[in-house]
Amino acid sequence: MIRTRFAPSPTGYLHVGGARTALFSWAYARRHGGRFILRIEDTDLERSTAQSTQGILDGMDWLGLDHDEGPFHQMQRLSRYHEVAEQLLREGHAYRCYASREELEALRERQRAAGLKPRYDGRWRDSKAIPPAGVEPVVRLKNPLEGEVTFRDLVKGDVTVANAELDDLVLLRADGVPTYNFGVVIDDLDMNITHVIRGDDHVNNTPRQINILKALGASLPQYAHVPMILGPDGERLSKRHGAVSVIQYRDDGYLPEALVNYLARLGWSHGDEEVFSREQLVEWFDLAAINRAPARFDPEKLRWLNQQYLKFADDARLAGLARPLLEARGCDVGAGGGPDPARVAGLLKERVATVTELADAAVYFYRFMVPSDESRARYLTPAVRAPLADLRGRLATATWDDHGIQDAIKATAAAHGLKMPGVAMPLRVMVTGEAQTPSIDRVLELLGRKETLRRLDERLAAYPA
Ligand code: GLU
Repeated sequence: MIRTRFAPSPTGYLHVGGARTALFSWAYARRHGGRFILRIEDTDLERSTAQSTQGILDGMDWLGLDHDEGPFHQMQRLSRYHEVAEQLLREGHAYRCYASREELEALRERQRAAGLKPRYDGRWRDSKAIPPAGVEPVVRLKNPLEGEVTFRDLVKGDVTVANAELDDLVLLRADGVPTYNFGVVIDDLDMNITHVIRGDDHVNNTPRQINILKALGASLPQYAHVPMILGPDGERLSKRHGAVSVIQYRDDGYLPEALVNYLARLGWSHGDEEVFSREQLVEWFDLAAINRAPARFDPEKLRWLNQQYLKFADDARLAGLARPLLEARGCDVGAGGGPDPARVAGLLKERVATVTELADAAVYFYRFMVPSDESRARYLTPAVRAPLADLRGRLATATWDDHGIQDAIKATAAAHGLKMPGVAMPLRVMVTGEAQTPSIDRVLELLGRKETLRRLDERLAAYPA
């Protein structure tokens, strides 16, 4: 049974890179009918917060990346790490190191001065010295001194590192908290992870992790290190490039299915497919098709995808998403508070790229907006006052649907020797305050006769205001 995991450190929000890693792990498990495990790596006591954990859970939930087991918290598993550390000590694969911080710093200084790579020199590895009193030791792995570590990465291919490159890494810190490399190995082992799918910023840790596994006599999982994500300028993706937090995309009016689709295509592809569903992703997902080169984040393409998803999204759902945004824009969207927001969403959704834009575009359905000076000067000229007053009369009795309204506009234009837009534009500006809306007959139909006439009366009374 395939078992994958996502193992975020709760030191910040769920960002696009983490979400993509999570998505790949999730998709691989789902593809193979396996299990997806969520593990919170909260051993960095200074930087981990409950708020970040919650933010990560919210982000995963919003994206629909459901886990089958967990969330497990490493800080609740300390006794297990101690147990394994004791076992390694007993079996001679690990040792206690009493070197002080100052001592190690002095060692690094000397190495740097000599032009050497700073590394622990193994001074307590085989030491028979009497441990200094009052010093809490760390536990270090006895990394093999010779030979090399090789593994076949499912994305990168063969990776080989000489053991001489690796020093005796700390497994347990003096305070009893495991290092990342130790915690991750014990957890992946205990949780029977078959495929470790993670960012390639960890590829250098993998040989160390493999040496721990070997010391434990355990078999190795498969590894897939996913290349990083760059911004449009080729630099590592960061806040400079705009939103990198998953939840920020939700708040900016993106749909989760659009972000999932976009993240899936970020470094993975299935032929030329650009727009595909979660089900298709699960059907097609394959680690071999992950790109070896870094992916580039393209906010414009994400926007375009969101637009595609909006077009086909359910009107009532969009209305539900837009409602709080409309309320924040001073709109009363309730019973008696203007047209059915689902119908408004249906009318506007093809013209916008985000739910936020949808809300912006819907405001005039719920609030009587004042036209800009420019629109007033351009469209509400003295010459169109009489035709508009005439139109008001026709609208009072027109059949209230798009045809009936259009007929009233046509008849007015004909009676006053104007072209259709010569009537429709001033009408639009008076009723909506905007110079651009979907076709005005459909806008008025939704707005309703009563509200349309009320607005026209008010504007005509103060014409051209
Ligand atoms: N906690 C690590 C991180 O957030 C997990 C790395 C891993 O998947 O092994 O980078």
